[in-house]
Amino acid sequence: MPSYCILGRIKLRYTINEIINKYVSDNLKDIDFTRNDILVITSSVLNTKKDKLLLDLNTRILEQNEIDSITNNLNKYYFEKIPLQYITGKQNFFNEEYVVNENVLIPRQDSEILVEEAIKYINNENLNTMLDMCTGSGALGISIANNSNIAKVTLSDISLNALDVAKENIKLNNVKKDIKVVCSNLFENLGNNKYDIIVSNPPYIKSGDIKDLDEYVKKEPIIALDGGVSGTYFYNAILKEAKRHLNSNGLVIFEIGYDELEALKSIISKYNEYRYIKCVKDLANNDRVVVIRYSGN
Ligand code: GLN
Repeated sequence: MPSYCILGRIKLRYTINEIINKYVSDNLKDIDFTRNDILVITSSVLNTKKDKLLLDLNTRILEQNEIDSITNNLNKYYFEKIPLQYITGKQNFFNEEYVVNENVLIPRQDSEILVEEAIKYINNENLNTMLDMCTGSGALGISIANNSNIAKVTLSDISLNALDVAKENIKLNNVKKDIKVVCSNLFENLGNNKYDIIVSNPPYIKSGDIKDLDEYVKKEPIIALDGGVSGTYFYNAILKEAKRHLNSNGLVIFEIGYDELEALKSIISKYNEYRYIKCVKDLANNDRVVVIRYSGN
């Protein structure tokens, strides 16, 4: 490694590549790692795009504070098990980029299936108004707003901190539709408003399964994950009220846990006003998105 001497003090000059390689050999011997994750974290710390970082790997000399910051963030990821997206503050989802922090669930690729399904129904049936309940970062509602003909969108969540993130994402993604956020425990603060379509990815993990989740998932907000003893608390709670908030022939589209289809079907069958339409599988071939028709008026 190159080094030079100023006024009798040894100052080491490290390139990006040297720092990365040193971190790997000092810390990651027994850890399954990908160089890509390291590059993503490094480019986020240095506030540079990955393609530029790659060009600079062997030429850019790092300042000590940059080295410290890269090391701290790699430690957070590999040893504190903080999700990569909370470290970079970003996640791509559908056609958009979202800011995320520890107050919101990180948008998952599986949820893009819900977005696709909602867009098809909205455009085919000329739906105008949508509610995204338990919106979190706003990913579902904002991606649907930006990629469909929907005219009016409400994003609701019980968490004010989550809604701050959703508001930031509305700006970041330049949403041109009539869109607003409402802090509400389910329908509590939504008055008598009615919608053509309600979408929701509510918390749906069984309370008893939370302790066994991956360490990274456990860093996400528990209120975004815990779906009660059977995992299906929110489907029942939402459907119970949703009939007062749906226009005739309206739709509800839920994301569900891979093993929750039968439980959801039996909740739906308790209500005369709803009809199960279909379930769409995710990329891993698990049941993931359920479409429900409101047949009351
Ligand atoms: N899909 C999330 C997971 O993988 C759970 C999301 C939710 O509860 N809505 O754990």
